[in-house]
Amino acid sequence: MKTPFVTLQKAREIVRENPTPFHIYDEAGIRRTARALRAAFSWNPGFKEYFAVKATPNPFILRILREEGCGVDCASETELMLAKAAGFAGHEIMFSSNETPDAEFARAGAQGAIINLDDYTLIESMERMCGVPELVCCRFNPGGNFAIGNDIMDMPKDAKYGMTREQLTQAYRVLMQKGTKRFGLHAFLASNTLTNEYYPTLARILFKEAVQLHRETGAKIAFINLSGGVGIPYRPEDTANDIAVIGEGVRRAYEEVLVPAGMGDVAIFTELGRFMLGPNGALITTAIHEKHTYKEYIGVDACACNLMRPAMYGAYHHVTVLGKENAPADHVYNVVGGLCENNDKFAIDRRLPEINRGDLLYIHDTGAHGFSMGYNYNGKLRSAELLLREDGSVQRIRRAETPKDYFATFDFTDFRFE
Ligand SMILES: *Cc1c(COP(=O)(O)O)cnc(C)c1O
Repeated sequence: MKTPFVTLQKAREIVRENPTPFHIYDEAGIRRTARALRAAFSWNPGFKEYFAVKATPNPFILRILREEGCGVDCASETELMLAKAAGFAGHEIMFSSNETPDAEFARAGAQGAIINLDDYTLIESMERMCGVPELVCCRFNPGGNFAIGNDIMDMPKDAKYGMTREQLTQAYRVLMQKGTKRFGLHAFLASNTLTNEYYPTLARILFKEAVQLHRETGAKIAFINLSGGVGIPYRPEDTANDIAVIGEGVRRAYEEVLVPAGMGDVAIFTELGRFMLGPNGALITTAIHEKHTYKEYIGVDACACNLMRPAMYGAYHHVTVLGKENAPADHVYNVVGGLCENNDKFAIDRRLPEINRGDLLYIHDTGAHGFSMGYNYNGKLRSAELLLREDGSVQRIRRAETPKDYFATFDFTDFRFE
């Protein structure tokens, strides 16, 4: 059973001032998640979570995470600007970009971010644009399949990210010659993992490589960055990860691999996005039409422009009809948005309680990679983002787009829009 963090009564109250659709985030849930993560890694004095900004690029959200001791992981110039606006500076910022335009290194350098190099050839661009910092991270791609036991989790050999093992050694050597004193090692090998074994397995791989790299090159390893990839239970039948168990699994690998190698001072970093924010956000939309043809359709006022994951990945997002949490799911519906695209479906042949026009639908787990993947196809406008504060009040942390925003990138000297 998945439980919304707002009731029908609360949603009705919110809708009076903030028309649907909108994304809403739960401050209490965000803080609770951040604290559970910190507690799980409290055995490691240098631990820090660098929240992946791309998941929820809103400075109000970033500020809450900063209060909880998090840094941010940025991948572009505007994300770096957002990090700065939210108060992050220096080593509170990780810059994990790829195919990086030169200008972005200049900004990352100016903000004092830790640079996480995706490729060997980027050493040259970084040096030219911002010099070679004393602390640099390199991203590893081990190639092959990434498996946990007999389960193949992903195919690093097909991923565009990271350096080969040989390139890592070469990169560390060259960077040391150029003045780098301390190193990070990073890898992201599987996304949205629903197993407590992902981080411990990844950690063990990275710890072993770190020991080898240290022995081969003499490089001082300052941190291991486990990146993102810890998943969330999108489906009611999914079992949630237990972050305490995950932290303990990483600790065991640390004790077994790093400590005996004399590397018991290495800090552990994470760059979680989905785990931190996913369940702490929801998309609330109104049922505005019903249509009976070969299937039963419920048309809502949100569309894939507000939440792209179902259209793009066929991703499941649970839907609760607010106020009917306990009603029998005795109807089969297709819940659809208004795009001229047949993949604009939030739910396909889903068993739900009877839906009437005007009902408020709560689409779960949109707090990460939800609003942020929004777009303007069909001239649809991005929604507002709201924050449910810990005291129960609601703050609008981003207004909805208006047609003026849509037209803002045209030259108005040639046209009139009204
Ligand atoms: C996307 C991304 C993350 C966050 O991934 P989640 O699946 O949201 O945990 C972290 N680090 C990097 C480099 C990423 O690209």
